[in-house]
Amino acid sequence: MAHSKALLVLENFIAGKFVPCSSYIDSYNPSTGEVYCRVPDSGKEEVEAAVKAAKAAFPIWSSKSPLERSRVLNKLADLIEHDLEAFAQAESKDQGKTITFARTVDIPRAVYNFRFFASSILHHMTECTQMATVGCVHYTSRTPVGVAGLISPWNLPLYLLTWKIAPAIACGNTVVAKPSEMTSVTAWMMCKLLEKAGVPHGVVNVVFGMGAKAGEALVCHPTVPLISFTGSTLTAQRITEKSAPHCKRLSLELGGKNPAIVFDDADLSQCIPITLRSSFANQGEICLCTSRIFVQRGIYSEFLKKFVAEAKKWKVGNPLDPTVDVGALISKEHLEKVRSYVKKAQAEGAQVLCGEGVDSLALPPGNQKGYFMLPTVIAEVKDDSCCMQEEIFGPVTCVVAFDTEEEVIERANSVKYGLAATVWSSNVGRVHRVAQKLQAGLVWTNCWLIRDLNLPFGGMKASGIGREGGKDSYEFFTEVKTITIKH
Ligand code: NAD
Repeated sequence: MAHSKALLVLENFIAGKFVPCSSYIDSYNPSTGEVYCRVPDSGKEEVEAAVKAAKAAFPIWSSKSPLERSRVLNKLADLIEHDLEAFAQAESKDQGKTITFARTVDIPRAVYNFRFFASSILHHMTECTQMATVGCVHYTSRTPVGVAGLISPWNLPLYLLTWKIAPAIACGNTVVAKPSEMTSVTAWMMCKLLEKAGVPHGVVNVVFGMGAKAGEALVCHPTVPLISFTGSTLTAQRITEKSAPHCKRLSLELGGKNPAIVFDDADLSQCIPITLRSSFANQGEICLCTSRIFVQRGIYSEFLKKFVAEAKKWKVGNPLDPTVDVGALISKEHLEKVRSYVKKAQAEGAQVLCGEGVDSLALPPGNQKGYFMLPTVIAEVKDDSCCMQEEIFGPVTCVVAFDTEEEVIERANSVKYGLAATVWSSNVGRVHRVAQKLQAGLVWTNCWLIRDLNLPFGGMKASGIGREGGKDSYEFFTEVKTITIKH
């Protein structure tokens, strides 16, 4: 394909060096609809070279002390933080997210991932038990596993990639990472900082390309004993199938269909702004975003009126404009998919109260070909509608009424997913009761997205297998052994 403007051309990062690839794929700027970057179309050969480099680096890196590795992670955090603005600009351009979101969430969080695991690795303890009657002590030891395969999605590119790289290398593993082919730029920028941070060659290798080709080559590689994957449930099923013959260890962080439950004693002055954010932040392209809002009947009309009025105020446009709240969706195909859900809801008799097909969207001249969509609120939608059952992953949320606590718990749980939920109520007893009964790996009450990285992160049912977070990541990225000493 001929390109008029000079394009950014990425290269794989293998054994500490940037390596060109024999073929490339186009990557689009979602806010202009133009190709602006070329990404290596890697396959088996490139993955083989990266795994070889990671394997060669393993003996040295795994034998360093946690303190030595911690220093390297902290240095890398400092270097990314130093270039925060450049990373934020790149993430916004590559993914379509607002510059404000990239500046305040994505990149600071990527920095924090390295800082957190740099500290966390210094504080783990293993277990020891005694059997005095037979004169034995038992203890566990933990060692790094080897070459970790890390596969990440496009919605929070550097944030989710570093959520995997940081614990993997902190534990002494070496890695081969495969970022999403749609958002590869910040991973490539990070590779430029590795040497300066003191990451030895081969410890972090990044291979760019398509999931079915580069990703699958990594999943099937016999020298990669574990895969940490974040992405869709469909891809996870494929990865599970492909890795089964090798008995690989898998961590799967997948999709969601997250409910917010608003009881009639909720503080709406808190609930409405936060539920708007939980529905539309990052264009609704966060696995933890709310997409079903259950409101108790007594306050349903009031909630809906206020919620829709506020949703209409969200400004959609050029993601690089700091006053913009909603940027572009990741791709034309994804935008069409998200829009198709709104059409299906309308065809089923649901009411679209604002956004897609109802309000007009005026875009700046440079963004006319971008993949934009207004925050959309749908009401009068049935629980078995695809809009209430399937992950839409865009700025679309459904609002429905409920009567009783028991009823709403059952309805909230009646989906195949189980990632996150929010509960809004000023009744402490109810909050605990409902949180216990919801089928979700994460439940936020009277708040959203507040995280302590020490605690488990992950989903139930079709939202995932395994958990990541301080202790959970440590356990996933290390091999445990029980040793018994008779004295
Ligand atoms: P995706 O599954 O299409 O792709 C994710 C990654 O897997 C990409 O790097 C892709 O190239 C790769 N991939 C695709 N096919 C592959 C294969 N056959 N073998 C190996 N790798 C393959 O997901 P996406 O569209 O990039 O991301 C959106 C999805 O991710 C949503 O479902 C969202 O909910 C989910 N997600 C989950 C979490 C979480 O923590 N639970 C976080 C963010 C996103």
